[in-house]
Amino acid sequence: MDIDIKEEVYKCSKCGLCQSVCPIYLSTKNEMYLSRGRYIVLNNFYNFNKKLSTKFIKDLDLCLNCNLCKSFCPSNIDAREIFTLLKSQNNYKYSFLPFSIIFLFILLTYKIRKKNIQVKREKKQSKNLNKENILYFQGCINKYVNPSDKNATLNILEKLGYRVVKTSSLCCGLPYLSDGDLKSFQQNSSKIIDSVSSDIKYIVCSCDSCYETLKRIPELKEKLIRFDDLLKLNNFELTSNNSYVYHKPLIRNDECYLSKEIKTLNKKGNCSLMENFILLKHRKLADKLFKDVFYKKQDIENKTIITSCLLSKFGLEYFIKKMKINTKVYSYSEYIYSDSMRKDNLYN
Ligand code: SF4
Ligand code: SF4
Repeated sequence: MDIDIKEEVYKCSKCGLCQSVCPIYLSTKNEMYLSRGRYIVLNNFYNFNKKLSTKFIKDLDLCLNCNLCKSFCPSNIDAREIFTLLKSQNNYKYSFLPFSIIFLFILLTYKIRKKNIQVKREKKQSKNLNKENILYFQGCINKYVNPSDKNATLNILEKLGYRVVKTSSLCCGLPYLSDGDLKSFQQNSSKIIDSVSSDIKYIVCSCDSCYETLKRIPELKEKLIRFDDLLKLNNFELTSNNSYVYHKPLIRNDECYLSKEIKTLNKKGNCSLMENFILLKHRKLADKLFKDVFYKKQDIENKTIITSCLLSKFGLEYFIKKMKINTKVYSYSEYIYSDSMRKDNLYN
């Protein structure tokens, strides 16, 4: 993380454009949860030797790491990088180890999981594995909580002729970044880098959160590809289904590869409150945000929501359960597999 926070926050002209997009500010109207408010405090800290209070550091958590403020900021100030670095420099600790996160996921989603799609790994492997070697980065959440996404992705990759030489279940490192624990993030990144042999052409991610985190490791950037981008590269034929809608995660800037018939619920992206693990860490705020930023019942009732982020999937399932509506959520790979491969007999 190569930024000078003092220089960065000095660039803020206080124009207030970030106010119009920050989901946390729009819901709470609290300037101290907005990038501009935080930059003013930081300017005072650097230029007038003012102290940074413990509360200020603790409240850095109340940010979705979406960087929407950056994309609207005329000075292009990178809030996500600044807040992570600040946490690291100020010994911020939420003690949110990756395994406690996974445990909470399991608790939160166990009942919902049982009702949803279950994709099994196909027994027969394709004989036409003639394309490049792939490392499939399933990440820890996929391994422990949502194996259907992994199975669907692997089945399709093999059908396309790719040789999946390795399936990595290492954590992408997002919980460390959320904790500002850059040392552990770097140690974890080294393990990931070591697992990529030179014969691997692509590191494929089926989760946007894993992808965005791995993108922050320069050594991986060149080989990294999202699963939907790989399908696009292969001109993979998509089938249509009018009852499907797409949830674009806030962290994703560009379009996901989908059939034209599938509408995106909010083209700017929407939040299922799993970014920075707010849903798990700050349940009260999450409940408030839920009313302000979540979808309206009529837009999603009796539909199937597809999302390209597994963290979003959990947030969506949690809130849909709360809304008591008949709506299913599929990950992108589960949607492609169930719709395009037509292997209904493989589902429980
Ligand atoms: S948009 Fe950028 S320059 Fe404008 S107030 Fe927000 S952080 Fe400052
Ligand atoms: S990163 Fe997102 S949540 Fe955080 S201050 Fe910027 S717009 Fe708000």
